[in-house]
Amino acid sequence: MTRKHYLGPIVDVSFDGAVCAHAAECVRGMPAVFDTGRRPWIDPGVATTPELAERLRTVVGRCPSGALRIEEHRAHEQREQQ
Ligand code: SF4
Repeated sequence: MTRKHYLGPIVDVSFDGAVCAHAAECVRGMPAVFDTGRRPWIDPGVATTPELAERLRTVVGRCPSGALRIEEHRAHEQREQQ
């Protein structure tokens, strides 16, 4: 199982392709962040305001498989210290 991390200014997003159900909830919910025609296909970098970050949290929360996860920056900092 490989979980990849995509960094953003307010929140990060992680993704595990092994469990993705390809329901495309993410792509429908926030196409500026989730664009399967782009590499990397997840770019939390566009969520530059608290409102956009909150919307990203909501969209990630709709992922039916658990493939997507929000990584709040506190967790990210702990990861860097490991
Ligand atoms: S919403 Fe979740 S399960 Fe659906 S395509 Fe996106 S990552 Fe995969």
